[in-house]
Amino acid sequence: MKKRMRSRGSKPSWVKQLAGERIETLLSLAAEVAGEKPARARRYVELARRLSSRYNVTVPARWKRKFCKHCFAWWNATNVRVRARNRAVTYKCIGCGAESRVGYGVKKG
Ligand SMILES: [Zn+2]
Repeated sequence: MKKRMRSRGSKPSWVKQLAGERIETLLSLAAEVAGEKPARARRYVELARRLSSRYNVTVPARWKRKFCKHCFAWWNATNVRVRARNRAVTYKCIGCGAESRVGYGVKKG
């Protein structure tokens, strides 16, 4: 008698793929409208983030530093402060004050 694990992190791959595509779409939409309609961009980001956590899909790397993980604000030149420090870039969201660090060039650890 086998019991299928049907909990977090065990979604079929086609679902993940769909979710991934949807995330991609949402984020490109967000990028498009961010300049004119920041509120709408934020909504798209929120949806994308929700999908990514529900389906355990990672947000593509190229989008990761485009928005705030905490308040979902799409970053532009005015609402984020970018700082490079030792091999990592710190993004500080002006909206909510959250910082995220993104390393470059070196593996984590
Ligand atoms: Zn923020």
